[in-house]
Amino acid sequence: MTINFHNTHFEISASKMAECPGASVPEIVFAGRSNAGKSTAINTLCKQRQLAYASKMPGRTQLLNFFHILKEGEPFARLVDLPGYGFAQLAQSSQSHWDRELGSFLAQRISLRGCVLIVDARRGLLELDHALLDWLTPRQLPVHILLSKADKFNRQEQTQALRTARQAVQARVDKGQPITIQMWSALKKQGLPELETCLNQWIFPEEPGPTTDSGTAS
Ligand code: GDP
Repeated sequence: MTINFHNTHFEISASKMAECPGASVPEIVFAGRSNAGKSTAINTLCKQRQLAYASKMPGRTQLLNFFHILKEGEPFARLVDLPGYGFAQLAQSSQSHWDRELGSFLAQRISLRGCVLIVDARRGLLELDHALLDWLTPRQLPVHILLSKADKFNRQEQTQALRTARQAVQARVDKGQPITIQMWSALKKQGLPELETCLNQWIFPEEPGPTTDSGTAS
């Protein structure tokens, strides 16, 4: 089945594990530094203008925002938007709450199938991106990295950015962590088929996916 991501709707915000909906369907988390382009990536994937920006509205910013994908009115999968990390002004107490709850979520949520990590291609993987990858290491959750804002780069720079990002995760891949990387531009819709193929395979692993290899790298 090819997923129609347009059928994605905001479901609920949770500020702690206990508030999360039941782990009843496959889930994919979206993570990244603030301003990396995560909301724009979710909106582009779902062909909606405001879906994930709504996560930034007051009352929806606490921890996890759940979006369910419907087929014939029934949810069969979810996207989970994690708060953007990297803003130093978060109070110490909020930070430890965030770390604790998010750490538990990523470690224990049985329905997670993969993580899309959005990284600004101009900045590359930074310390907090590696910290997130560390959290996902014990359960070997597949990670698909979008090197975002590719439209800011020419072709040669994109190749270089991809190479640098691959090198940055090589030690993890060598240890068996499943990490794939692609260039991404929400502005130009560059990389959308690759992203859709990846998510389809995570949600329906039993179905053979279409073969695309442009810009995707293990
Ligand atoms: P978030 O904080 O990670 O959710 O980031 P946003 O999705 O809000 O994007 C942060 C900024 O980057 C906004 O000004 C977006 O317009 C811009 N942006 C996001 N994606 C792209 C892209 O593909 N290309 C360019 N040039 N800018 C982008």
